[in-house]
Amino acid sequence: MMVLMKREATQEQIDAVVETIASHGLSALPLPGGERLAIGIPSAIPTELRPVLDTVLSAMDGVDQVIHITRPYKLASRDFHPHDTEIRIGDVRIGNGNFVVMAGPCAVESYDQLLESAKAVKRAGAQALRAGAYKPRTSPYSFQGLQREGLEILKTVAEEVGILTVSEVIDPHDVERVAEYVDILQIGARSMQNFPLLVSAGRSGKPVLLKRAPSATIDEWLASAEYLLTQGNEQVILCERGIVPIDRTYARNTLDINAVPIIKYHSHLPIIIDPSHGIGHARYVPSVALAGVAAGADGLIIEVHPHPERALSDGAQSLTPQAFERLMAQIKAVREVVAPVLAR
Ligand code: PEP
Ligand code: MN
Repeated sequence: MMVLMKREATQEQIDAVVETIASHGLSALPLPGGERLAIGIPSAIPTELRPVLDTVLSAMDGVDQVIHITRPYKLASRDFHPHDTEIRIGDVRIGNGNFVVMAGPCAVESYDQLLESAKAVKRAGAQALRAGAYKPRTSPYSFQGLQREGLEILKTVAEEVGILTVSEVIDPHDVERVAEYVDILQIGARSMQNFPLLVSAGRSGKPVLLKRAPSATIDEWLASAEYLLTQGNEQVILCERGIVPIDRTYARNTLDINAVPIIKYHSHLPIIIDPSHGIGHARYVPSVALAGVAAGADGLIIEVHPHPERALSDGAQSLTPQAFERLMAQIKAVREVVAPVLAR
């Protein structure tokens, strides 16, 4: 629910509306607009309270109209936050016109492997190093990640090379620990609806990269983002990584490029593209990455491995450092053409 105030509404009238909402045990969020103010109610409103609140608020002085929002997300929507969110981590800015590239191996495998990867992706211009220490694997027999040792390696390498890090957390009980080691917490596709994990990650105060589950609708994805936002964490980055394909013969998933303009229209949160998991084969990754750039994504997360043929996970979709460097030059060229067009 959102209360749209009249253009000439006074501060007293605004305060009275806020107090009335609070007196019903709900939070009120004043949302300054261009010419007039709206007051959002981000919390869930009990069904029986809705008509009462509608009648009471509509009759108050200074109120123009009461708008009902039926979407499952509020704080993630542009209704409640019209301007693009910009996330700042050190010198790096994400969203609001700032483009970010996160790159690195699927998993931390060893100190040497990660150091080589970090140096390569940094040299090519990536702002963050990606690498999983906890790997959610379909089979329990597959490599599960180096876990705590992986986090130690990630931190050591990132400090040596001077690069931000993003790494997945899969267990709500590990959030605090992982948050001590990395700059951005990644919530993977399989965990998008692990609600206790979302609450813990929201409370951590760390920036969170929230991947879309392969079968999740846009509403479900944004409702998961809402879990993070309702914990007071506004540093949420969405990541489209491919949805369930109709055919796995040629591609691992189907990257839903539609998600970029749709999210941009309905949400203020930055959205980045993961072409590696999206298509699943290194030879196709550059084309899909560039499509994401052209569609207006706020960044990319790309798997890069110094020796893809030896990778313990996702080698087939990992770019070599040389291929990544070539792609970065192409990204730059496409950005130069697209950025001014998108800014219009
Ligand atoms: C990953 O980033 O390595 C990963 C496991 O991704 P997703 O959750 O998108 O499958
Ligand atoms: Mn992977």
